[in-house]
Amino acid sequence: GMPGKSVRYLLRERMPEEYFELLKKAGELAEGMGFNLFLVGGIVRDMVMRVENLDIDLVVEGDGVVFAKALAGVFGAKVSPHEKYKTAVVRLSGGHRMDVATARLEYYRMPGAFPEVEESTLKLDLYRRDFTINTMAVALNPHRFGELIDYFGAQRDIREKKIRVLHSLSFVEDPSRILRAVRFEKRRGFSLGKQTLSLISSAVHAGFLRNIPGRRIFHEMRQILQEEEPIRCMERLQELKVLEAIYPDLVFDEQMREAFRAVRETLLWFRLLYTHEKIRAWFLYFLAMTESMDPQAVMALGDAFGLRREDSEILLDSREKVREIMRKMASRPEMLPSQAVEVLGKASLEEILYAMSRCRSANFKKIFSTYVTTWRNYRPPVSGRDLLAIGFSRNPDLGACLKEIRNRGLNGEIRDFAGAIAFAQAYLTGIRG
Ligand code: ATP
Repeated sequence: GMPGKSVRYLLRERMPEEYFELLKKAGELAEGMGFNLFLVGGIVRDMVMRVENLDIDLVVEGDGVVFAKALAGVFGAKVSPHEKYKTAVVRLSGGHRMDVATARLEYYRMPGAFPEVEESTLKLDLYRRDFTINTMAVALNPHRFGELIDYFGAQRDIREKKIRVLHSLSFVEDPSRILRAVRFEKRRGFSLGKQTLSLISSAVHAGFLRNIPGRRIFHEMRQILQEEEPIRCMERLQELKVLEAIYPDLVFDEQMREAFRAVRETLLWFRLLYTHEKIRAWFLYFLAMTESMDPQAVMALGDAFGLRREDSEILLDSREKVREIMRKMASRPEMLPSQAVEVLGKASLEEILYAMSRCRSANFKKIFSTYVTTWRNYRPPVSGRDLLAIGFSRNPDLGACLKEIRNRGLNGEIRDFAGAIAFAQAYLTGIRG
């Protein structure tokens, strides 16, 4: 067929040097094995849109598992093959991972379906995907390295900012794509294609959402809640009557919207300060979603999401922990840092941020924010090991002494090593004497 345009320059520009080299080497390796190798999916979409994305998805025309093992061998990486699905994950030492899939070969024997025999298996693989914008590939074999393959008009749809399915049975095949459509629509100002929108309406009205396993719904909802703008996704899902189809009592009302807004604001604050710290944002939104439900309703929602009882109970425990924190804070208008740490120290970062989003008082907000920025990382000027090394004897009061040093350190009463040693001396002799 017509060779696609080269996006070699994009590969070079948009990717760290080591990724570029890695893809080149992978292409050479595939060539030597007689396979065709392609970069596919979200990373190609994002590269064309100039958005950062480092999730490498590869498709092999040939045997993906054999290729992945060879690739892992060359790079000294770990490989986890999935023989049944002919896929593999290759984990490189730097923490990078690559997902390798096989373009299914059964169609290779029926080249009549497509005129270009060489590309037919890739084309069929891409045809199975959710939306046109996700169907581009970049060839990686040396003689065509960097060639952009776009069978289904992805570049046009990116230009027009449209989410479009590939064929009219798409949502029948997999209704969870309805949730994915909304997720992609609310990113970067896209909208649903007219035909796609009407296919979604029909699928919802026909009750197809009931055919999705709960776990899939949860997986897709979690991805939505991990997005930049979950509020807009929720509004859209409500408008399309998807929420009520998932669970009748799931209504994105003003109260829930307010809880979501508060979470969003808190997350923005956190992400501004800690750009690299991973946070399970979805969990905060999930707490917001269930904030005004009674425990039975939370368990029922958990069922709709295919959660195990234990997982729903973890959610309820978290809710309880947050409420406990709020009660304790409210009962003490003035708090020393050590007292705040006592209250917050056992909660997860997500629970703390959620509690912070719930709290109205500027005074308490300040306590939360100082905990997150300072106190949670506080290290006292001496450790137990230090005290033993200096010659303090291993005695039962040492633990209490260290705790006291920590508290006083947090409160600014002990500032340095010398101060801590002096305190320990007085404390331990005081107790014994
Ligand atoms: P993100 O930027 O959120 O990582 P992504 O496109 O990588 O987006 P994933 O959910 O990781 O999204 O999916 C990876 C690829 O697999 C997508 O590009 C998509 O084409 C395909 N895919 C995922 N789920 C489906 C589905 N239900 N039906 C068809 N294709 C799917």
